[in-house]
Amino acid sequence: MDTSDKNIFVTQPLLPPLEEFIPYLEKIWNNKILTNNGPFHQQLEAELSKYLGVKYISLFCNGTIALITALQALRITGEVITTPYSFVASTHALWWNNIKPVFVDIEPDFFTLDPAKIEAAITPNTTAILPVHVYGNPCKMEEIHKIADTYGLKVIYDACHTFGVTQDDLPVLNFGDLSVMSFHATKVYNTFEGGAIVCHDQNMKKRIDNLKNFGFAGETTVVAPGINAKMNEVQSAMGLLQLKTIDIAIGKRKRIAEQYRNKLQGIEGLKFLDDIKGVKHCYSYFPILIDKEKYGKTRDQVYDELKKQNIFGRRYFYPLISQFPTYRGLESAKPGNLTIAEKITEEVICLPIYPDLDKITITAICNLLVK
Ligand SMILES: *Cc1c(COP(=O)(O)O)cnc(C)c1O
Repeated sequence: MDTSDKNIFVTQPLLPPLEEFIPYLEKIWNNKILTNNGPFHQQLEAELSKYLGVKYISLFCNGTIALITALQALRITGEVITTPYSFVASTHALWWNNIKPVFVDIEPDFFTLDPAKIEAAITPNTTAILPVHVYGNPCKMEEIHKIADTYGLKVIYDACHTFGVTQDDLPVLNFGDLSVMSFHATKVYNTFEGGAIVCHDQNMKKRIDNLKNFGFAGETTVVAPGINAKMNEVQSAMGLLQLKTIDIAIGKRKRIAEQYRNKLQGIEGLKFLDDIKGVKHCYSYFPILIDKEKYGKTRDQVYDELKKQNIFGRRYFYPLISQFPTYRGLESAKPGNLTIAEKITEEVICLPIYPDLDKITITAICNLLVK
């Protein structure tokens, strides 16, 4: 089939019917509360914490500022161990806190931070580990927490790719000291832009809420040099509406992943990730790996060929964060320290996946990949 008449991007934002949004806007116009912990904000915190199965959630204007604030909330300083295989904001959040990122390689199965390599990177200045549940696959959390406990380190998960993901029926968001989410337009669940920090006790929730509102703890009390990171009422209203259809959206993503797997299995030199036993996934991305020797083409050749047919896959995550000029001078970024990440970044393409992606387009994409 010919897909050349329309562009197919890696994702398309989930949007509710416009007419369903209008009554929410009318409420905002009537009560004239636009932000500052308004009624929709409060309602969304309540509904999201219930949906996600977490104790406390604090909404943010976006995921990056939530990450920056999470590090502030725990007073993280010095060095933090993190993964080079992520969206660049995971490391930028460290830089904005004057923290030195120490990159540790990923494991080869699901490309999350490799616990076996963490200990060697710990120094007297290490205060925390910042792993990423990349593509929504849970990190090897048990092993990470064992190390964190031994060395007295905090664990902050970048959970920007996970929405509603559970492992053995437990929400992954409940692990670690804090988890940070993104509700950006491109994510499984969006509030246009948005984000959140998940925490496990009331004092921490209060501290985070203060930090996101300039550090105000009362009308005339400022307890920290906080920031303005609040989610506004329009975003919160969007979030409430999106929550109504999120299960359907994730169900559709699951079926798309299944169709890709059916059609792409057994192709020499083309690999994809399977679901993990006991994990309820959210299917945020569908990465494939191209082995240039076995497949007979490089990843970039495949990427370009798809592009010629107006299929815009994305090379998430290429380059590695450690390869950007800002970070490549770091000792831990040196070639040879991150060999698995360096290999995967040359092989990966994320194929389009979003609820309204139709079967005909999926078939067309797969036909281009079958040699
Ligand atoms: C999207 C994303 C972020 C940043 O979130 P924003 O809401 O866009 O600021 C951070 N880390 C990862 C892994 C992401 O995918």
